[in-house]
Amino acid sequence: MLTQIKGLHHVTSLAADAQQNSDFFTKLLGMRRVKKTVNFDAPDVYHLYYGDEAGTPGSVMTYFPFPHIVKGQRGTGEVAETAFAVPVDTLDYWRERLAAAAVGGLEEVEQFGEKRLRFEGPDGDGFALVEVPGDTRAPYADGPVPADLGIRGFRGVTMRLREADATARLLSFMGYREIAREGALIRMALDNGNGADVVDLEALPDVGRAREGAGSVHHVAFAVENREAQAEVRKALIEAGAHVTPVIDRDYFWAIYFRTPGGILFEIATNEPGFERDEDLAHLGRALKLPAQHAHLRPQLEQSLMALAD
Ligand code: ZN
Repeated sequence: MLTQIKGLHHVTSLAADAQQNSDFFTKLLGMRRVKKTVNFDAPDVYHLYYGDEAGTPGSVMTYFPFPHIVKGQRGTGEVAETAFAVPVDTLDYWRERLAAAAVGGLEEVEQFGEKRLRFEGPDGDGFALVEVPGDTRAPYADGPVPADLGIRGFRGVTMRLREADATARLLSFMGYREIAREGALIRMALDNGNGADVVDLEALPDVGRAREGAGSVHHVAFAVENREAQAEVRKALIEAGAHVTPVIDRDYFWAIYFRTPGGILFEIATNEPGFERDEDLAHLGRALKLPAQHAHLRPQLEQSLMALAD
């Protein structure tokens, strides 16, 4: 069993409209846009990152906005719900805030003894706010949501699968352990993680595969401290039979990727070097940042990418 993985690092999804996406996370959810760059593999579209003040791993929701992309279809083989942690007794505030913004899919449920407010993103993305006692992570304090009510980072994700056993075994290998079951849900958790410690697996044997599009999670990334830990994880995964990519430099972290038996794309990303690599903390997320390999495209991209207001 691996011990290097510290929880989620980021979750990356697809959106149809960059401005709508940015406004949803910054103006409504009160997160900070911590990076405005492009998809390194398709630099004609943005890659937008939202998180706490510094974009701490475990708080970072990222998006590829593809204009005119069709909506995804929910199903199995995907991350169906991304959950953010909020303090206890704040869901009334959040329900009113989201309802006032005409957010869809509002539903309050209790899951594994936690109060969970489900809601949808602009493209039907599955989200939830979960009341978590004792989460000491600092929220972004300079947004529109008061700090004592704000999002602390991820609580975790729910993966919807035809069958959960293979993914549960993989997560066990990665350092998670099963801590509870409830209906079709299995809760896996890390003991000494970064706060974004939970992965819920929902087994739905009769539900067809999801079709990726706007509102779909593209991949989920798990955090390791540094490149050395990442190399250890990569070696172990390959020895266990996974087809893992070489290490890829994403400027703000190093990444490796592999497809899980359940069909979900996993990434292992380093906590180093972080989002202050190419701009200082006070100014994160405003200027268009380009990786060296795409720097020559700046004149075209500044013309072709839609202008994005803060
Ligand atoms: Zn990623």
